[in-house]
Amino acid sequence: MKINNLLLNLSSKGNSDIIDITDQVSEMLQESGLKSGLMTAFAPSATSAITTIEYESGCVSDFKRLFDEIVPVDQEYLHNLKWGDGNGHSHVRAALQKASFSVPFEDSRLLLGTWQHIIFVDFDNRSRNRTLVVQLMGE
Ligand code: ZN
Repeated sequence: MKINNLLLNLSSKGNSDIIDITDQVSEMLQESGLKSGLMTAFAPSATSAITTIEYESGCVSDFKRLFDEIVPVDQEYLHNLKWGDGNGHSHVRAALQKASFSVPFEDSRLLLGTWQHIIFVDFDNRSRNRTLVVQLMGE
């Protein structure tokens, strides 16, 4: 079994910006030469997350609205009082959504459903340059 830890650089606009990383991760898998195993995409960040969704404008808007409803920006966060960076909601949203997502692969193809895309979500309150870890584990 081999383990490849690769890096994926992204630029995000922040404020729940959603970036579809499915094609980039699939290319990394193709180039790795691995046939069968598990891909994990990990965001080493306290204000962003990775998950899966049907990547169309309705679902993307619904997903963003959900976070506005359950973790509103304009609430009082102790984190903001302590650090003054105004992104208390970003940290709570990221913790809820989690920082990594795994998909098994076979014949060098991710075993995603037809409409299932892998998305990076940047909850921070400003634009950011991000480096994700894409771990390909298999043979
Ligand atoms: Zn903060």
